[in-house]
Amino acid sequence: MATVSLRDEVTELLQQLIRLDTVNPPGNESVAAELLRDYLEQNGVRCELLGRVPERMNLIARIPGCAGGPRLLFLSHTDTVLADPAEWRVDPWSGEVLEGQVWGRGALDMKGQVAASAVAIASLAREGFEPAGDLIFAACADEEVGEGEDFGLQWLCREHPESVRAEYSLNEGAGERLELGGKTFYLCSTAEKMTAPFRLRVRGRSGHASMPAIADNALVKAARLIEGLGRFAGSPRLGPETEALLAAMTGGHVPPAERALATARSVHPLAGELLEPLLAMTVSPTMIQASNKRNVIPAVCDVTVDCRLLPGQTQAEAERSVRSALGEGDYEIEWLQSYGGTRSPAATPLWNAVDSFVRQIEPDARALPVCLAGFTDSHWVRSAFATVAYGFFPMRAMEAELASRLIHSADERVAVDDLALGVDFLRHAATSL
Ligand SMILES: [Zn+2]
Repeated sequence: MATVSLRDEVTELLQQLIRLDTVNPPGNESVAAELLRDYLEQNGVRCELLGRVPERMNLIARIPGCAGGPRLLFLSHTDTVLADPAEWRVDPWSGEVLEGQVWGRGALDMKGQVAASAVAIASLAREGFEPAGDLIFAACADEEVGEGEDFGLQWLCREHPESVRAEYSLNEGAGERLELGGKTFYLCSTAEKMTAPFRLRVRGRSGHASMPAIADNALVKAARLIEGLGRFAGSPRLGPETEALLAAMTGGHVPPAERALATARSVHPLAGELLEPLLAMTVSPTMIQASNKRNVIPAVCDVTVDCRLLPGQTQAEAERSVRSALGEGDYEIEWLQSYGGTRSPAATPLWNAVDSFVRQIEPDARALPVCLAGFTDSHWVRSAFATVAYGFFPMRAMEAELASRLIHSADERVAVDDLALGVDFLRHAATSL
């Protein structure tokens, strides 16, 4: 268990981090990087600030390995999404402690884990811990936007690869405690779907809007296709994470992919919700652009579609599915910039560290691998260095459903008990790997 002093230490550090406004855009993450550097250097941890511009620094801290062993990287980001104080019970940048919880923007996503990682590495350094391989802590800028010019982990992997190269990494992504089929699980993310948006360009013929018959309205033609996208259902497919989830829920019986969703729902509605986006690719039309003038019938209508593929699924395969669902027509599909879609194996020494921690805190509970429907920075180290990267920050005091509602929303807060549990876990991972 984290001692009383570690518990206070992580709470205070998180309060200080929340009080720094690092809403992205614009980010201004250097204030957080400097606070962390001062704290870590006071504890004897070597630090370095790296960044593309002075106001958006990344902090890298390291306890050097003494035996050339595998490196472990605690990954995190210091930027947050915005907050509207009018919607909050407390000032979102107050870091107030109320009812045993630290309140403020970023408490869950993810300054809480930033503070816990910093306290874990600082406390290990104070105790004279000598890891076999480097123990590294990266508090990165620019995770929440990550489009266009990059300032965070993607930039570090490209411009300063040695600063973050590691065999193993722990980041945000999961850690929720769930009871399924009478058993207790802690989710640990090992994979992510690929974010692969595309543009559907529908073609017609322009004309004056007062004479619709002479034109061929691309916007009207797009309507049928948008409806088709709304009805689209990718064919379900099981992967290692969904198989593990189904096996855990059913006590070992994995149904065929077509029956997986019904099986999960019969166990628990939440299990169905968790499984559904992980069974198939999804498409969601989200933006549309046609004529710029009210009286001109558009010759072109562009529909932007958010599309998420299963790890390993290709855009070519997805395009065939979308085309066969939409049928023939005057349209083109253009793939936009994609990211994510990587997976780490679940049979590794890092997995053993996660699972052994879970058994230590709850002897009957197990760690369960999951694929995320979204995207985290773990993707960058998986693709740059083949790092075994997991998302895990155990959460026992706060209900998983409440936490998922609070992320990016009003009244975001983290239980002090969970912060202390996070410090315990990260110390356990570093010392047992
Ligand atoms: Zn995050």
